Amino acid sequence: MSCIFCRIIGGEIPAQVVARDEVTLAFLDVSPLADGHVLVVPHSHVARLDDLEPGEADALFRTVVRLSGPVRDALGADGSTIGVNNGDATGQTVPHVHVHIVPRWHADGAGSIHSIFPPGAKRGVAEVGDAIRAALEVR
Ligand code: AMP
Ligand code: ZN
Repeated sequence: MSCIFCRIIGGEIPAQVVARDEVTLAFLDVSPLADGHVLVVPHSHVARLDDLEPGEADALFRTVVRLSGPVRDALGADGSTIGVNNGDATGQTVPHVHVHIVPRWHADGAGSIHSIFPPGAKRGVAEVGDAIRAALEVR
């Protein structure tokens, strides 16, 4: 098994595990963006959120929600940035779904998720809305 997160789930390599259930595992990121940076992963090895079974997706986000308050409290943080790099085009480096929970403080010097994008969508929102609604209908 070569996936680093599958090896953590399987107990082959160590991690600072903070929560575990039948479907998900949460552990500290080995190169934290801030103190208390947690990764929440499903046990099943899939690369993208949309590859998860509905029950796995429910369990994953239940764990994220369950952890977000305690992680904030444990670090004395003011909030958290919660995000997913979903696919290699986004900079995802480990192809096993993981949700980042990164504690945040007022004036910690980091930006909002808006700050990672250059300005300027190219298409109108009504046209894009039509395209997404059409894509939903064909699934
Ligand atoms: P991403 O860029 O969204 O794919 O994030 C992958 C994350 O996994 C990075 O923040 C890494 O620091 C983290 N990571 C990689 N290997 C390990 C490991 N062995 N234990 C904990 N976190 C890891
Ligand atoms: Zn994996």
